[in-house]
Amino acid sequence: MRVTTVIIGAGHAGLAMSHCLTARSIDHVILERGEVAHSWKTERWDSLRLLTPNWLSRLPGYSYQGDDPDGFRTMPETIAFLERYAQGISAPVRTHTRVSSVGKADDGYQVATDQGGWQCRSVVLATGACNLASVPKVADALPPEIRTLTAAEYRNPSQLEHGGVLVVGASASGTQIAEEVHRSGRQVTIAVGEHIRAPRLYRGRDIKWWMDAAGVLDDRYDEIDDIDRARNVPSLQLAGSTDRRTVDLNRLTDQGVRLVGRLAGVADGKAQFSGSLLNQCALSDLKMNRLLERIDAWATEHGLDGDVDPPHRFEPTRVEGSPPLLIDLRRGDFRTVVWATGFRPDYSWLDVPVLDRKGRIRHDGGVVESPGLYLMGIPFLRRRKSSLIDGAAADARDLSDHLVGYLDRQAARSSASA
Ligand SMILES: Cc1cc2nc3c(=O)[nH]c(=O)nc-3n(C[C@H](O)[C@H](O)[C@H](O)COP(=O)(O)OP(=O)(O)OC[C@H]3O[C@@H](n4cnc5c(N)ncnc54)[C@H](O)[C@@H]3O)c2cc1C
Repeated sequence: MRVTTVIIGAGHAGLAMSHCLTARSIDHVILERGEVAHSWKTERWDSLRLLTPNWLSRLPGYSYQGDDPDGFRTMPETIAFLERYAQGISAPVRTHTRVSSVGKADDGYQVATDQGGWQCRSVVLATGACNLASVPKVADALPPEIRTLTAAEYRNPSQLEHGGVLVVGASASGTQIAEEVHRSGRQVTIAVGEHIRAPRLYRGRDIKWWMDAAGVLDDRYDEIDDIDRARNVPSLQLAGSTDRRTVDLNRLTDQGVRLVGRLAGVADGKAQFSGSLLNQCALSDLKMNRLLERIDAWATEHGLDGDVDPPHRFEPTRVEGSPPLLIDLRRGDFRTVVWATGFRPDYSWLDVPVLDRKGRIRHDGGVVESPGLYLMGIPFLRRRKSSLIDGAAADARDLSDHLVGYLDRQAARSSASA
């Protein structure tokens, strides 16, 4: 089968790109291994709500019109929202079509799937940034009686054995899962590595409102100091809930969750934790305060100080005097380890030589090194908000413009040589 452009993945990023290609009259198809919103249907825990408010999910041709703009969508609501969007834009999705390889062809690309092959001139990779859970090597050394699961496998506490739980990772997923598991009556310890603390509400407004208004979410990939670093920072320690609570380490401590340092190793059944807990927390507080300073400066510059609460700072993260550096996992206190250590994309099916030695795609703001190949939906692709639902619109507009230019140049070259 032939088409001008193949989009792989029917998450919000692929759908946003489809909307932009339709607007530019580029015939295309979206190949999806499952159904629209597949990762929200199959890879998230039951109680999860988006941590971005309802209004902050603008897609091309869509902005929130409901009566709860400041609420946070549940998973069923998120799925329904993306399904409605796909229908509304008549997205040409081929569901249950898994791409097994993408390779170069004479005039473009050859895309193989379990439902037949496609030839096309350009390909948009919108397969998501979170296909695989990143689990550290130390996992291999855990005693066999400890059950492990990743944040992508976790659904609710009833899945877990009775007994203590070690949650590894203290970003959005780790802190939310730690809180929920603790509420189920289990003893929870959370291993805290690098994380970025953020309050849900600041000066009476949602932190995401501030980040959007002050332009923080629009920071560009080609204007910040260290883009490699920025693409690898963990997600903000935030949760979406009906009571708009901040789920930070102080809250977890108040509830009875124990903080330990980063899980550094496991030997002879003993988990070893780094002594850097205090430093990690101080650094995280510092980064939060830098964000709040930027927000305060913006509020003053834009004459908002009279309309919102005055600036203030939050209590520093509290850390116990001598957190344990060693825990014997064979003593029976812990039955489960939950890996909330992040995610990474899966490009095992990509046969175009564009991966660097760490397996990441080499690209300039989503324009991949192989002409006609584009990337969407990964952290800080073009903007700080690129991996958020709200970030797809601007990226899809920029990249679809580039794609149209590429097709035009290709067409001009072929007619000149004919
Ligand atoms: C736990 C969690 C919470 C998040 N919370 C928020 C939030 O509150 N707000 C927010 O804005 N963002 C949030 N995100 C980030 C982001 O919105 C999601 O990662 C989002 O799913 C990414 O969208 P996407 O379209 O790029 O990828 P996905 O939604 O993952 O879509 C990619 C699609 O590609 C398909 N696919 C993959 N490989 C193939 C293949 N070989 N062949 C065919 N199809 C394939 C998948 O089935 C999937 O449907 C969260 C992410 C996670 C993991």
